[in-house]
Parts: sequence; C-alpha cells; structure tokens
Amino acid sequence: MDGKILIVGFGPGSYEHITVRAREAIQESQVIIGYNTYVDLIRDLLTNQDIVRTGMTEEVSRAQKAVVLATEGKVVAVISSGDAGVYGMAGLVYEVLIERGWRDGDNPLVEVIPGISAIHSCAALLGAPIMHDACTISLSDHLTPWAVIEKRIEAAASADFVIALYNPKSGRRTRQIAETQRILLQYRDPKTPVGLVKSAYRDRQHVVRTTLDDMLNHDIGMLTTVVIGNSSTFYYDELMITPRGYQRKYTLDTIEQRLRPGERLKPENEPWSLNAATGECWTPTNPQSSSVQSGMTSPTGPTIRDVATSDISPREWASAALNCLNRAEKTSHVSAALSTRMPSPRPSIFEIAVSPGVANKKFNSVQLVLLANLAGDEGEIEYTTAHQLILRTVTEDPEHIVKCLRDGGMTVLPVGDVIKVKACDFCDGEKHEGIPFAEEISRRLAGIPVEKELRIGFNGCAMSCYGAVNEDIGLVFRKGKFDLFLGGKTTGRNATPGQRVAEGIPAEAMPDLLERIVTHYRENAFPDERFHKFFARVGQIEGFNHRDRPQTVTADAVCGS
Ligand code: SAH
Repeated sequence: MDGKILIVGFGPGSYEHITVRAREAIQESQVIIGYNTYVDLIRDLLTNQDIVRTGMTEEVSRAQKAVVLATEGKVVAVISSGDAGVYGMAGLVYEVLIERGWRDGDNPLVEVIPGISAIHSCAALLGAPIMHDACTISLSDHLTPWAVIEKRIEAAASADFVIALYNPKSGRRTRQIAETQRILLQYRDPKTPVGLVKSAYRDRQHVVRTTLDDMLNHDIGMLTTVVIGNSSTFYYDELMITPRGYQRKYTLDTIEQRLRPGERLKPENEPWSLNAATGECWTPTNPQSSSVQSGMTSPTGPTIRDVATSDISPREWASAALNCLNRAEKTSHVSAALSTRMPSPRPSIFEIAVSPGVANKKFNSVQLVLLANLAGDEGEIEYTTAHQLILRTVTEDPEHIVKCLRDGGMTVLPVGDVIKVKACDFCDGEKHEGIPFAEEISRRLAGIPVEKELRIGFNGCAMSCYGAVNEDIGLVFRKGKFDLFLGGKTTGRNATPGQRVAEGIPAEAMPDLLERIVTHYRENAFPDERFHKFFARVGQIEGFNHRDRPQTVTADAVCGS
C-alpha cells in the first residue's frame, strides 16, 4: 500500500483558523509528527493517531521520520504552524525525499495543505497593513548568512516594501532586530508605523502598535511577528493601514465617480502606468522629462535633475523616483492634460479652475462669453466656495483652452488636492498694500499638488471679513505686517479657526516662511492627511508649536432649570 505525507499548515493557532482540508488531513492520518507546542495546539483534533513529538531544532529528524514511515505505507501528517511552505516543513520534506531519488508521483504521495501564515493573521489583527507590495524576511541567521539577510533588509527597505519580520528575536539572537532597525531607519521615517503581534489567535495574544524608532522599547520574542509599514502606511485610531492607491482615481466619500468605468483604464487617467510612457521619467540622462506641469511652480524636494549629475546612491534613486511618481500621481487627469509629458491624444473631459485673479473678484462680460463658448453645449461651469469657477468641457486640445483663458485675462489652476489661495477683494482694491503679497503667494504656491486640499486664506486688513482665519492657513495683513494662523479645521460640526501662532511677521518675510511651511507639509504628510491633523501630529512647524484645543463641553440645558 502507498503511504502518504500530508504537510499541514494549521494557521496561527486557533481552531477557527484551521482550514477544512487541514482538519480532514489531520483526521485521516495515522501518525502526527510535529514540534511539541504544535501538537498541543491541535490536540483536540486528534483521535487515535500515533504522535511523534520532537524539539524545535529537530526539523531534519522530523522530516526523515515522516519519509521513512510513509515509505512503509503509513499516512503521516507533518504539521507546521501558519503555512507549511513559509519557513515551515514543506521544503525540508521535499529535500529529504529528493536526496533519496524520489520523483513526484512515486511512493509516498505528498500533499501540501496551505494555511494562514503569520503575515496574514498578524496583519488582520493590526488592520490592513499589507495592502500593498509586501515581503517576509526571517531574521534567523542559523541557516542563512547574516550578510544575505542584511542585503534583503536593505533591498526591501529601499524599494518601499511593507515588511513582515519572522523569527525576529530569541534568547540568543538579540542583535539582529536592532541591526534591522538601524538599516530601516536609513530609508524610512522614524515615525513609520510598526505593529508587533505576539501569539496571534492564541491564548497569550498581544498586539502593540508602535513606530520604527520606538519598536525596541517593547517586548519582541520568538512568537512575535514584526510588521513594518511602507512610506504611506498610517495609523487611524488603533488601525494600521497601507493605502492601495484607490484615492488616486476614485473619490471615496461620494457615490458618483468623476471617471466613468471605461475611462478608468485609459493611459491618460493613469499617468503613473507603464503604458502612459512614463519610463523616460526614470532616466538620469533625460532630466527635462521630470517636469510635470508646464508653467507651474516646480514642487520642492530632490528631483531627477539633482541626482543626474552626481554619484547616485540607491537611496537617492529611490527618493527621486518616488518624487517623480508622487508628482505624476498627484496630477489629476485634468492637470495631466496640462503636462508637457503626456499630451492627451483623444477627447476627454477637461476640468480646470478659473478666476479673474487673486484679488479681483469680477469677471467681465467678455470673459463670461468666452467661458460659455469654451464650455459649449456639452460642458458646464460650476461656482465653488474657493472663489473659483470650475470649467468642464470636452476637448482634444486642453492646452488651447488654457491659452484662451489666460489670453482672456483669467487665472487658471488645476482642481482637486492642490493648494488654493483665496484672498479678499481688498475693499474693492482700496486697501491695496497687501495685494502684491497675495499675488506673490498665489504665484508661488497656488495649484501645487498636496496630500489633501490646502486652503490658504489671505485678508488685507484686521477686519478679516473673508474669514482667512478659518482656513487651513490664514494670513491677516495688518499695518504692513502679517498675523499667521495655522491649522484651521475648515469643515464639519467641530470646525474651528486656525491657531494664531504669530503676529507682526514682516511682510517681506511672509512668502518664504509660507513656502517653508507648505514644503514641510508636502514632504511629511501622510496620505490624505489634512493640514490641521498634520500640525497636531508633528506638534511643531517652522518653530510654531501646536496647542491642543480645549475639549468641547456639551452642557444639557434643561428648560426652566
Ligand atoms: N510557518 C509559519 C512561520 C514559522 S517561522 C507561518 O507561516 O506563519 C516562526 C515565526 O513565525 C515566529 O518567530 C513568528 O515570527 C511567526 N509566527 C508564527 N506563528 C505566529 C503567531 N501565532 N503569532 C505571531 N507570529 C507568529
């Protein structure tokens, strides 16, 4: 009679997470071979099987025993926690068989039964941290040279993989995890979310949510899996989440989507895709190709151009490439049409924000006629709270539309998650001292892509009648100087004005200071993180400290008491 080896992954440790096939396999086997702790974990599933228990370091003798017994005709289950093919027994059993000249289909038959590996069970407890490209690295250097492990950590870190560290630490192996942290910190922000999950779905389950710089201050052991986020992973309450990128193409808080299903796969709507011919963007010999938006202020941060002329370290490569991608990603499909890099060959809906100017609030009739003509029968014009009209029109030639609008004396800007500068009308131009500053700030910053819409409000006098202090960033021009407000919460039932962080800033210093604040936000904000949340999280921007707001007290006002 032919024997059989069933190599069973029984998941993290709880009965509910063992697959039906794994249960059947355990029940149909005559012999169970496994490490003591694992046999105890599945004890309730056993009927009258013989049990061969071994210590943890005896994998080879376990595999040999299984092969010998199965060759004699027994049905043998070799059990591994998680998935038997992930640092488990599957490979070793095959290797022992191969040493004996066994061929697939020979006696004994082999079946590998998949299980839920630690990366998946631990991720589920943390939230959704491995939503994007991820890898596993075992820090055990008992069988793998440390030089190889180190190289893999470095490669995964530089390529921005989410990383699950298996076998992170044991009684004797304590330096590896510290060394790993050191390497990761060369590539990732110290505040990168890190989840430590010990004994997932077992009695002593313990989950710690921490950060890359703090992770060693917590207990990490043999039963811990360490999940390191990538550069966009964030915490939301207790949840560790890595965005998949849906927000690049979809609006997640409305039912209606700007792109219709058929449009979502078009190259012009995926400027980051290979088919959108962005490959040249990566080539250091072609620095011009890194420019994304013609006629717009270049976003800050290192560019391909910066690294093109120097020795390029892998880290510089990675950050230049990410910058490049980020810029492409943050360019909406409409502003992508403005791009010199990706002219839109086919008619698509072109969307652009239009205003008479930063201080001027009045469209003249010629401009209105021009707008109506450009919108045509199929287009539309929407008025918004940002002192802009949004023109949507079907066109093959967006650049022509932009030119017509500019020639007509209008200011045009991309829509979506960009910086919006909204100023008052300076009392119809009477209080004009602040106008040059408003114009300079608008010229430098308006339209730059950001994680989440960033509104900068500008008021030309202390009356602040246009509500600048209620915007993400508020500027009030007073007697040749500025008062600065940061972190207004612009919407919601708990909307609040920004915190007044400074008064009397010399007017000439304001545009540079504002640019530095915005750059700090652009470079460090989490995906979708609005400015007020960012300010609260980082605690300080350009020396201005965030102050927690007093808690709102809800008083039950009972009538008559
Ligand atoms: N075959 C297993 C991995 C075995 S290597 C699997 O696929 O999950 C052993 C390592 O796996 C441990 O050091 C730990 O990092 C991880 N691990 C296994 N089970 C775990 C659990 N229940 N909770 C957390 N980590 C676990």
